[in-house]
Amino acid sequence: MANRVPFIAGNWKMNLDHQQAIALVQKLAWTLNEAGHDYQGAEVAVFPPFTDLRTVQTLIDAEKFELALGAQDLSKHDSGAYTGEISGAFLAKLDVKYVLIGHSERRSYHNEDDAVVQAKTAAAFRHGLVPVICVGETLEELEAEGASAVPVRQTLAALAGHDNLGEFVIAYEPVWAIGTGKVATPEEAANVCGKIREAIAQQYGDELAGKTRILYGGSVKANNVAGFLKSVEVDGVLVGGASLDADEFSGIARFQKHIAL
Ligand code: PEP
Repeated sequence: MANRVPFIAGNWKMNLDHQQAIALVQKLAWTLNEAGHDYQGAEVAVFPPFTDLRTVQTLIDAEKFELALGAQDLSKHDSGAYTGEISGAFLAKLDVKYVLIGHSERRSYHNEDDAVVQAKTAAAFRHGLVPVICVGETLEELEAEGASAVPVRQTLAALAGHDNLGEFVIAYEPVWAIGTGKVATPEEAANVCGKIREAIAQQYGDELAGKTRILYGGSVKANNVAGFLKSVEVDGVLVGGASLDADEFSGIARFQKHIAL
């Protein structure tokens, strides 16, 4: 691990209504702290559906849980006649700190291309949110172009054209590894994360590249997380399915324990 705060992010996707969200966050707060704060040093965040955000925010606030709040998407617009969309301004009002942008499920089911991802990244910056920009190649792209070409291209496209780059996080998620149980090897993940960092350094300089957190995502579980986070190139993990289970997600957040062994 490098000198960057490790980031453990749980993407709930379209799971859990607001009552189920309360139960999970309460259990999570308990299990995260259970083993004497040994996840300290890492930042842990949950990304619930929009309808849960207010409930989860209130709970975090009232109970003083050390849990950051993220949203799964935002509109590229700030307000107006965009039925069904959610403004970054509304998210910021709920103490949402992070927002996922360009998750492969948005790219494929909602046709979000690099231009949309770039515009949503700009919207996140406008509202003081930290975009977690998801990048990754499909199996076909992996076979045609190798592992790093698409994620590097998607990263640079999302970062291009902003007057000022605010804080951002990149999540490298090979599409073939999301929700499939197929996991990239720690070496594959570290290699692509390293290439993404190199590309950021070339375009924007070593300082920005050195402080940017780059995560791996794709079928991460408590029993494989340590392999990824041993690498200096991987600063955390974006977790889907396993983030819905408090014990499993807490096990992931306590990755330091496994690394120390
Ligand atoms: C994700 O949705 O970002 C993800 C990585 O999912 P899973 O952990 O279930 O593969």
